[in-house]
Amino acid sequence: MTQTEIARRGLMLVLSSPSGAGKTTLSQKLLLSDNQIVMSISVTTRPPRPKEVDGRDYQFVSEGDFDRLLQENALLEYATVFGNRYGTPKEPVNAALKKGCDVLFDIDWQGTQQLAESARDDLVKVFVLPPTWNELEVRLRARAQDLDDVVKSRMSKAIDEMSHWAEYDYVIVNRDIEYALSQVISILSAERLKRKRQIGLSDFVKGLSPNR
Ligand code: 5GP
Repeated sequence: MTQTEIARRGLMLVLSSPSGAGKTTLSQKLLLSDNQIVMSISVTTRPPRPKEVDGRDYQFVSEGDFDRLLQENALLEYATVFGNRYGTPKEPVNAALKKGCDVLFDIDWQGTQQLAESARDDLVKVFVLPPTWNELEVRLRARAQDLDDVVKSRMSKAIDEMSHWAEYDYVIVNRDIEYALSQVISILSAERLKRKRQIGLSDFVKGLSPNR
């Protein structure tokens, strides 16, 4: 930290959306554009998709491993989505926040509700909507990484997921990925400037005083 930088508390930025609304691309672009935010890598019992890398996209674990993590109280939140279990490991999140780093979460509405209970003040919740239903369907099909019946089930689930938009602080319609990214960046900038997060402010202001 340079002398003019003000110590701040890290925040937890949640991005939720129905599958196919572009949230993963948005997360990746945000991480590339900002070195003060790190991704929370979830654990999941879902099998990896072809281009996914263990430890980068998810930590792929067995049902038994997942049970163990639950028993050890090692997860900040967890949920079952499309029949697979997903959860957020506690330790890396706490370590990042402690360092004053922000943490990005790509989790569903169930996990967001749990985080809201345990970390309300640190949480910033953003929901990403597709521009049209048609667009969502096209994006899900273009992905073509899932079997056809998985795509169908995800489309029917999308309606349910979308019904939770009103539980979020911010809602973005992803018509254009670069524009949506600029909106997420604006949200992050404003949230970082909130007085309560700038914990070094009083020291900074004291240092500004001419007769210190
Ligand atoms: P996918 O299998 O397509 O990667 O993810 C399916 C859904 O699970 C997405 O909505 C994603 O946001 C959600 N998800 C991924 N990781 C977690 C997690 O750790 N906790 C919760 N609650 N949801 C997650």
